[in-house]
Amino acid sequence: MKNFLPLSLFILLPILSFGKSMGTHEHGALKLEIAAEEKSIDIDLDGPSEAFIGFEYLPSSAKEKETFTKAQDLWTNDLLTKLFVLDSSLNCKIVSSSFKQIIENDNHKAHNKHKKNSGVHSEIEAQAKITCEKVIKDQSIAIALKKHYPLMKKILIDLLGSKPRTLNSTLPIENLKL
Ligand SMILES: [Zn+2]
Repeated sequence: MKNFLPLSLFILLPILSFGKSMGTHEHGALKLEIAAEEKSIDIDLDGPSEAFIGFEYLPSSAKEKETFTKAQDLWTNDLLTKLFVLDSSLNCKIVSSSFKQIIENDNHKAHNKHKKNSGVHSEIEAQAKITCEKVIKDQSIAIALKKHYPLMKKILIDLLGSKPRTLNSTLPIENLKL
């Protein structure tokens, strides 16, 4: 029993340190999770803000705010018409969606003046929930994230459905079967 505690700590530590660390994120690299079941699809996209809007600090100028709003609108309004295109006969609808910029939480950095390239890192967490009128198993989905967010370089796609699989996508449009 004496050896038990140190061992479990040893196992836990690496997992904790990998948590929400943004210092090591790779610009242009995104992670996309698509969970398809019956008539619903859950989408979760995470990655450096730079890949969505071209910078990682909080938008402050009018132009930066417009850039952010455009990227956000694309996700919330054009999700099913541009980013994730499914057969129209399925009659899929967005139930909920969110698009948030998460700034690295580092109090020491608050003392520095945040200049454009001061090394601030942030991520965008985008989520959406979709329901369709028909079962979506074996239906195709055209993922056009890279086409509409051109700063994205590669997307690690985790597809959870009838045939779970993981792939690295570098195409402007990736066609998959759910
Ligand atoms: Zn970054």
